[in-house]
Amino acid sequence: MSREVLRVIPLGGLGEIGKNMMALEYGDSIVVVDAGVLFPREDMPGVDFVIPDISYLLENRDRVRAIIITHGHEDHIGALPYVLSQLNVPVYASRLSHGLISVKLKEHRLLGDSRLNVVEPHTPFSVGEFTVEFFRVCHSIPDAMGLAISTPLGMVVHTGDFKIDHTPVDGKPTDFSALARLTADGVLLLLSDSTYAEVEGYTPSEQVVGEALDRVIGAAEGRVMVATFASLISRMQQVMDAAVKYGRKVTVVGRSMVNNVKMATNMGYLKAPAGTIIPLSEALDLPLNQIVILATGAQGEPTSALVRISNGDHQDVEIVPGDTVIISASPIPGNETLVSRTIDNLYRQKARVLHSKIALVHVHGHASREELKMMLAMVKPKFFIPVHGEYRHLVAHAEIARSMGVAEENAMVLEDGDVLELTADHGTIVDRIPAGHVYVNGRRMWGDDGKVLAERGRLAREGVVTVVVSVDASSGKVVNAPSLLSSGFVELDESADLLERTSEEAQIALEQPNGRHLDLDELRSLVSNSVSKFLYDETRRRPKVLTHIQEV
Ligand SMILES: [Zn+2]
Ligand SMILES: [Zn+2]
Repeated sequence: MSREVLRVIPLGGLGEIGKNMMALEYGDSIVVVDAGVLFPREDMPGVDFVIPDISYLLENRDRVRAIIITHGHEDHIGALPYVLSQLNVPVYASRLSHGLISVKLKEHRLLGDSRLNVVEPHTPFSVGEFTVEFFRVCHSIPDAMGLAISTPLGMVVHTGDFKIDHTPVDGKPTDFSALARLTADGVLLLLSDSTYAEVEGYTPSEQVVGEALDRVIGAAEGRVMVATFASLISRMQQVMDAAVKYGRKVTVVGRSMVNNVKMATNMGYLKAPAGTIIPLSEALDLPLNQIVILATGAQGEPTSALVRISNGDHQDVEIVPGDTVIISASPIPGNETLVSRTIDNLYRQKARVLHSKIALVHVHGHASREELKMMLAMVKPKFFIPVHGEYRHLVAHAEIARSMGVAEENAMVLEDGDVLELTADHGTIVDRIPAGHVYVNGRRMWGDDGKVLAERGRLAREGVVTVVVSVDASSGKVVNAPSLLSSGFVELDESADLLERTSEEAQIALEQPNGRHLDLDELRSLVSNSVSKFLYDETRRRPKVLTHIQEV
């Protein structure tokens, strides 16, 4: 007898903001919802971003039927190039998400081999044991979708990221009538966005931001620069509307934003009269009060256009007094310091800076508590799993669900890697699978053991000392005093003397074996150990000691 069991396996996004990925499994079918990235925290030096660990999916690759994308934000699509290059399954996405994914896969030269499908709302499609239908939700990007996934055990609703905005920029609010139809026969499980589950009340409409941008751009006497997410198409539309209204041209800097603006304009998601968007070279010839620059870097990303401009090292754009810079985004948790530093540097360059703490130039795209209640009230699920949030957001959201009548034990807080088995009337965590961080740096990916980052942390804290010892190739005798170099360890003027004494110490160590012949490895560890010990005794620090033995 086969047991009717739906397995729910979060691979990312539960207990953290970012790298969203959720697997649903029934019989021999697995569908995956989203494949996002997490932006690195400051304690992850040299990491471009973090992606989910998909070893479970790779082990079960024959059963993975599809990846379904809720919307085109990086924390939902950013890992696709890395996932698809290992697991080339069909991808289903709404029209704009499909466009954004195409841009991304093209950059990674994967577009030709990928199997991308565009899905319209109200159009169910089958993947394995599941039938999926998209319904429109309102979020900070057009074409965001919730998913109604019918399984042999009952209906599962995944909200994706959503808020309830009655006056969104694209005029397409959350589709309650579709939701009512899809949930009419009862819902087994609701998975719902928890990012703002601690925030009381309702999230303001995007309209408020449009009005604020209009006011600031209308009143600005000099040039205006707006930094936002490269994927925040609706925000770019608001900027363009204001620019057109006040007779300004718009130019775009930052590669990802240039690509997205081109794509969104071609697909009709960004609308502006011909000639509104001009190349940077032309914009630089216009009077300052006729320009709006759209730029990447609202999260303080070190290589982004805005950060380069704020540091005075962008090749084409420099801040001049009278510039107004609008940061139309709020920092993702972990990026606060980078963003504040960027704001400070912009002030140092004599710009006027407006950001979400001092002006209504950004509202977030996630439902606050009253909207979460509304979703629960509409869907009336038997089981509830909060998704997309730090652990405390998940707990807060589960509490809301209980207060709305979901049974105590049916509102379940899961974390990445938990394997939940759901029957028609029970949910039990039966297993844990690997779901840690996978780090991406350039073209390299590495797993979660943390050794590389620990090493980088040590190098950053303690620095490095290099010892070079020359030995005679035939006799094996040390030829001259070991030479030392250091980087990031001690101040240079005090280091000359210290390094000299360290060299002497290494030489003494080398004389100790009393004629016994040592091989190169033995010599190397003898030198490394004596140098490490000496430096620790002298300075109470443990720099990384690299010893190189060269035969001459
Ligand atoms: Zn989103
Ligand atoms: Zn998200």
